[in-house]
Amino acid sequence: MKPILRILLTEVNKVKISVFGSGYVGLVTGACLANLGHEILCVDIDEEKINLLKKGEIHFYEPGLKPLVVKNFQKGRLRFTTNIQEAVDFAEAIFNCVGTPSREDGSADLKYVFSVAESVAKLAKDHKLMINKSTVPPGTAKKCQEKIKLINPDSEVEVVSNPEFLAEGKAVHDFTHPDKIVVGAKSSKAYSMLRKIYTGRVRSYIPFLETNWETAEMIKYANNSFLATKICFINEIANICDRVGADVKLISQAMGMDYRISPKFLNAGTGYGGSCFPKDVRALVSVANENGYKANLLQEVNHLNERQKKVMVHKLLQRFGENLSGKTFTVLGLSFKPNTSDIREAPSLVIVKELLERGAKINAYDPIAFPEARKELGEGINYCENVEASAVGSSAILLITEWDEFRNIDFQNIGSTMQEKVLFDGRNIYEPEMLLEEGFEYFGVGRK
Ligand code: NAD
Repeated sequence: MKPILRILLTEVNKVKISVFGSGYVGLVTGACLANLGHEILCVDIDEEKINLLKKGEIHFYEPGLKPLVVKNFQKGRLRFTTNIQEAVDFAEAIFNCVGTPSREDGSADLKYVFSVAESVAKLAKDHKLMINKSTVPPGTAKKCQEKIKLINPDSEVEVVSNPEFLAEGKAVHDFTHPDKIVVGAKSSKAYSMLRKIYTGRVRSYIPFLETNWETAEMIKYANNSFLATKICFINEIANICDRVGADVKLISQAMGMDYRISPKFLNAGTGYGGSCFPKDVRALVSVANENGYKANLLQEVNHLNERQKKVMVHKLLQRFGENLSGKTFTVLGLSFKPNTSDIREAPSLVIVKELLERGAKINAYDPIAFPEARKELGEGINYCENVEASAVGSSAILLITEWDEFRNIDFQNIGSTMQEKVLFDGRNIYEPEMLLEEGFEYFGVGRK
């Protein structure tokens, strides 16, 4: 089936929707769709999360999400439950937004996705759409549909694939201003319900791509794998720059001026992290393997990214020697990127663990991610109140996540409280000359 590009005009058609999974994607989906006027019931098996949500509290940080949740909750358009039967009964359309984590072998673990499909198969009494928004390998919608038919041969539940492209840190904006909406389905009834749900998602128009299940599922993997590859590519260039004395920042700018390349995702750094790129690249490699194809490029992207997370550690060891006992280092930024509390697969975790293993003490500061970081790193590091406190007695600052507040640090002031004035700029956000003027040794990524 050929994708069809459609332009949607704004107009609200209220739909009763249940959203399974109240995590980053589910809650943003629920809140944004409620804000469009739909009636939303968010369901999660985690009672603690649902109880928090009922009190207007969110278990993670996402800019702009809390006011949207509170407003729509107060208007009665957004409700929360742990009752699966209630959620199935309520809805015409069910969004499946549960997690699809990596298994040990890299493949996507689909047990949560299938468990929702099984619940819907058992409990649905009439026609409903079950819309997979989770990122899943091609073939998953088909398997869900088969499972549903196996459990209940008379089931009228229709599976749809509708991958989500939002990015944490600007998820509300991305959801309401998407580049595209991709829908893989089997019937015109399903496409038209999705159009009804999304009508009004942006002010003027949105490209709406209609295709089959497998293509929709594959678009999401292709999208994420390409972005991961682009980051990996510029990191590769940066590593070469480090050795030949070239400046990757200028190279990125120049490359970005080529309209065929675009400047986005061309910033060299400490590697990508988060809950999507790493697991999605691994899952696509695994899908390829299962289908008799060795996806060498993507396998190498995954491998290179893990290596990149340690580049800063190697530079630090070259400067300070292998034994770091008795030394304190300042880590700025723990979340995998700015404006999120998410630390899943964050480069900071690898870097901190490497330094701790070599006897270093860590003073860390992050504006938001301490609760998540504590779960991962325990009390083995000092969680500092601010940048100034984290720098006292430190032998070097390691900038790992480029939160805005790190862009205008008073280096003269904090330098005077440090043991040695050394900066590892893992995101190339500072001008080396400025740091040199303040008496700092500067180590960037791909720039001398
Ligand atoms: P998450 O871990 O934050 O949330 C998943 C939620 O599902 C959890 O709260 C969990 O308790 C709940 N859950 C599990 N089983 C359930 C069930 N049977 N019924 C109801 N709830 C259940 O995950 P996330 O980051 O929101 O990601 C969800 C999916 O969306 C993944 O496939 C991910 O790859 C994809 N995705 C994520 C992002 C992102 O930026 N986080 C962006 C696009 C797509």
